[in-house]
Amino acid sequence: MKELVIIGAGPAGISAGIYGLRAGLDLVVLEKFAPGGQVLNTSEVENYPGFAEPVMGYELIDRMEQQLRRFNADIQSVEIKSVIKNSSGIFETALSDGEIIQSKAVIAATGSSYKKLNVPGEKEFTGKGVSYCATCDGAFFKDKTVAVIGGGNTALEDALFLTRFASKVYLIHRRDEFRGERILQQRVTANEKIEIMLNTTVESINGSGKVESISLICCKDNDTKNILKLDGVFIFVGYDANTGEFPDELKNEYGQIKVNLNMETSIPGFFAAGDIRSESKRQIVMACSDGATAAMSAYEFITNKKL
Ligand code: NAP
Repeated sequence: MKELVIIGAGPAGISAGIYGLRAGLDLVVLEKFAPGGQVLNTSEVENYPGFAEPVMGYELIDRMEQQLRRFNADIQSVEIKSVIKNSSGIFETALSDGEIIQSKAVIAATGSSYKKLNVPGEKEFTGKGVSYCATCDGAFFKDKTVAVIGGGNTALEDALFLTRFASKVYLIHRRDEFRGERILQQRVTANEKIEIMLNTTVESINGSGKVESISLICCKDNDTKNILKLDGVFIFVGYDANTGEFPDELKNEYGQIKVNLNMETSIPGFFAAGDIRSESKRQIVMACSDGATAAMSAYEFITNKKL
């Protein structure tokens, strides 16, 4: 039996692993894909302390993973099905291959997944012009015209990133003001390649075999229709917490796991960290902090000692 199972190897899970291993815990980190989480979809990160110049998301996560591996971390590439606490107070993490890993404590750090726009053509053209990742797909749109949908930090940052490749970027947002930070708003407004379209929603994504245009409804009357010819559509309309495998009793109305400041949930020994928790601000630095807090709380729970 392990002392601690950490589920997810994004910034929260990796930080929990580093803190847990340095505290001497016998732990395993379980990750469905490769370590990284949503940071892999992030272009440049310029608000993670320690990097005077912007760092690419994949480079930042690579450095975090190397740091975790320096402590000889056991990182397993597996999919989990469920987590329960049995009648003896032991956690049982069930894997998709039927194996069950027992542990004294669990930290859930499974992050979040991007939301869909849910308009006609979105599913059909995913990978054929519709993308959710500027870092992954931006280079395919050299000297082309693309649209970015959304008004948060991701949309603003990635619209700026896409101007490195595309000749024109339409930034389309459903309200009359952006949600993203003011510094990013100033940058998109000043960028000559970006055309901002506010009070505008996407009705459909159209094409034959690949994206060729989008149909828009705009303006306060919701009546004005417009068709834009373009080659790509980048959708950045937020994220949902990945909590499907965890007990429903832990979740709030948005499906996020409710925690206190120690990252404790209502089940003793079960902790949650990063984007999956309630009130998360979805910042890399905060996910790292959550992971460290959760690992320290797990140590105290397992050993009954204060760190
Ligand atoms: P977000 O802040 O939740 O913004 C989502 C945007 O999509 C909002 O502008 C929202 O419009 C719009 N939207 C949602 N559903 C839509 C729909 N069905 N149709 C059209 N538009 C829709 O998401 P995010 O930008 O991905 O950011 C998530 C979190 O990560 C935030 O806390 C953000 O600060 C953080 N983040 C931070 C950084 C950074 O600090 N470097 C970078 C990226 C993300 P409304 O505004 O009208 O609701």
